[in-house]
Amino acid sequence: MSRALLVLLVLAAPAIAADPPNIVFIFSDDHAFQAISAYGDPRKLIDTPNIDRLAKEGVRFDRCLVPNSICGPSRASVLTGKYSHRNGFYNNSNSRFDSSQVTFPKLLQKAGYQTAIIGKWHLVTDPTGFDYWHILPGQGLYYNPPMIRNGTRVKHEGYVTDLIADFSIEWLKKRDKSKPFLLMSQHKAPHREWAPALRHLGHNKDRKYPEPETLFDDYSGRGVAVRDQDMTLAKTFTALDAKLVPVPNMTEEQRTSWNAYYAPRNQAYQQAKLEGKELVRWRYNRYLHDYLGCIKGVDEAVGKLLKYLDDEGLAKNTIVVYCSDQGFYLGEHGWFDKRWIFEESLRTPLLVRWPGRAKVGHVDRNLTSIVDLAQTFLDAAGVPADPEMQGASLVPLLEGKTPENWRKSFYYEYFEYPAPHRVMPHYGVVTNRFKLARFYVPTLEGKPKVDYWELYDREKDPLETKSFFQDPAYADTVKELQTELERLRKDLKVPDQPPKEAFGSLLMPVKKKKK
Ligand code: CA
Repeated sequence: MSRALLVLLVLAAPAIAADPPNIVFIFSDDHAFQAISAYGDPRKLIDTPNIDRLAKEGVRFDRCLVPNSICGPSRASVLTGKYSHRNGFYNNSNSRFDSSQVTFPKLLQKAGYQTAIIGKWHLVTDPTGFDYWHILPGQGLYYNPPMIRNGTRVKHEGYVTDLIADFSIEWLKKRDKSKPFLLMSQHKAPHREWAPALRHLGHNKDRKYPEPETLFDDYSGRGVAVRDQDMTLAKTFTALDAKLVPVPNMTEEQRTSWNAYYAPRNQAYQQAKLEGKELVRWRYNRYLHDYLGCIKGVDEAVGKLLKYLDDEGLAKNTIVVYCSDQGFYLGEHGWFDKRWIFEESLRTPLLVRWPGRAKVGHVDRNLTSIVDLAQTFLDAAGVPADPEMQGASLVPLLEGKTPENWRKSFYYEYFEYPAPHRVMPHYGVVTNRFKLARFYVPTLEGKPKVDYWELYDREKDPLETKSFFQDPAYADTVKELQTELERLRKDLKVPDQPPKEAFGSLLMPVKKKKK
């Protein structure tokens, strides 16, 4: 390219930082903060040395919240910097991403960044705003996953997390080195059905894990929503979840190694004929073996990418982010899965390293969100954000400075119902101490079938096992939070009624009264 042409191109592009940082965004699916050693869970479930490096060399965000705790909607919020009710992606059942809308990769691409997404996409329509995309169709498979590369279906042999790491590094090797880059390296793991790599089977040496205090939660002290859900180890856990049957799509050789680990243990389980609490305990330990085995793979993938950045001298001018699309239950309340405004699913891990800018070893405890990421990346690159974006740049927080007007409350919304886990739609306001939420069952006729409020006080009840909504001592708190909730809904342009399609394709029909 001639120098004159280059100058023209630079002039035509929007403003960009003088030495724009590269961005490596590593995004996993359903990774609980309890399963990252840097977050210091008291159960000490796992050691994640590579992910922890980002906490040591950068900033650990301790209260990064998601606006709608499920996969697709979270991904749409990361890309658009908007809530589900503004970007139109409400649920995993029938939402399709409107790919014509503004996203941060599109804005970075326009500003001269080279952009790529590799791994899990899960937004139904094809990616836009990327020079290169190589994605799993839908949820994707753990073993030998078919993928789609720039529109063409391709076959691969291997374990999904390893492949995504390798393809990410391959793309970095082949990239146009004259441009800054955005790489979104997005893992399927540790999503259900939690299938570890063969080398990680038996990683925990049959450890019996400490149990969360609420493993046998009786759901008293709260409304019908927590009792009506279908996401318990006791009742919802399937034979595939328990690996009593092998996961799909393995080669014969892979299956042989797989069975060498699971078959004798499954036989012992069948012979023991466990029931009640003992059955739940067995499932809890099997679940954690498999889930944490997946995390071992993700941590190694992070290690490979960090090593590549080190070896190539790229680490210095590259922002590396590790984040999950939401948190996850690791037996708390007897559950797996996500969806709720409760802490384990509302909070997601967020670790950011940016040499020279992010305060080394800093812990940020402000209310932050993945809805802030789009504006953060644009700010770091010196590219103006879209005025419709609903978050705020985290750059000052990365530098250890909290802006005076930083949010003191956060709006949450969840829609998908009743399938797949019967978690009632709800929305609410979250502060450092409290959560006020309205639960409701939508009907085709528009009038909710169930409609009630709950109040949680994390100072008095950190495990969120009791609603204080009816307690007269909290009357003023409820009033204040309701006012704040209305302010947030107005500010975030939340419609009074969500559209019917927000709840998914299986909306509850109203039972007709017999005449
Ligand atoms: Ca997810």
